[in-house]
Amino acid sequence: MAILKVQDVSKSYGRIQALNRVNIEVPQGSVFGILGPNGSGKTTLLSIILDVLSADTGTYSWFGAGTSPEIRKKIGSLLETPNFYHYLSAVNNLKVTHEISGRGNDGSEIDAVLKKVKLYERRTSRFSTYSLGMKQRLAISAALLGNPTVLVLDEPTNGLDPVGIAEIRELIILLKEQGHTIIIASHLLDEVEKVCTHVAILNRGVLVTTGRVDEVLVADDSVELSAADNTRLSELLKNFNGVKKVHVAGQFVYAAFNQGTANLEEINRLCFSNQITLNHLILKKQKLEARFFELTADSHANPN
Ligand code: ADP
Ligand code: MG
Repeated sequence: MAILKVQDVSKSYGRIQALNRVNIEVPQGSVFGILGPNGSGKTTLLSIILDVLSADTGTYSWFGAGTSPEIRKKIGSLLETPNFYHYLSAVNNLKVTHEISGRGNDGSEIDAVLKKVKLYERRTSRFSTYSLGMKQRLAISAALLGNPTVLVLDEPTNGLDPVGIAEIRELIILLKEQGHTIIIASHLLDEVEKVCTHVAILNRGVLVTTGRVDEVLVADDSVELSAADNTRLSELLKNFNGVKKVHVAGQFVYAAFNQGTANLEEINRLCFSNQITLNHLILKKQKLEARFFELTADSHANPN
């Protein structure tokens, strides 16, 4: 079942089109990554599905039922880091959050969420003594008050060091195991690749692709080769069976194949039978990162 369905959502700020007819479906129990470079529309999309902003056109529905205050209670969110009081402990900060939001019952539930984010042992320490990672975990614990089914997190690892990032990653995996559906926006591919089951890739407000991580971020085989005449070599390779793309960069020619389909012996034989002697031929696995950069290439070349 889809927990969230977004249909044809568009949003402009003046003449900046932040979202252009975006469609996504978030399956129940998934960790759904919304991935894209800075300025691609991730925060705008999250703000719309959380009712903080309204879309210009398009619709979305949670749990197949639109939105209502009842449904809103099933969604915990972290869009901006909450302003916690530096001189208060974790417990007292969450009491304040509880009083403002009305989410959760204080007392026992505050203990429960602090255990979930592994801050229970430090629950009485002042907020000001926390590391950045602990502060971020406290923010996530505030989003967990009221035991929401879904968690929506915007760039939860922003500004954290590698240890802090790893802690948040473990926490997300744990929350998924406990049955939460998690929607997480990020411009860091690495973060998404390690924890997400599904992704949607945005580029300049347009949905480039969406689906299961292993389907969307399949890595191509890339064959790196060279010969005395690389122009002739690349022309020959363009007609070779199974080649998706050929390009020349520096002293090498690169030919992309679907994962697991590049056959070096066959390539060698073809070249030789066409009077091209290769002086270099190796198989490189294309990194997922390369795929992401390919899909969002224009933003990197010309960031706004
Ligand atoms: P992301 O979260 O992916 O970095 P945003 O949703 O914040 O992207 O922004 C998408 C685009 O909309 C960007 O070009 C950004 O500059 C623009 N934008 C975002 N918020 C506003 C705003 N309040 N007013 C004007 N432009 C905005
Ligand atoms: Mg953002």
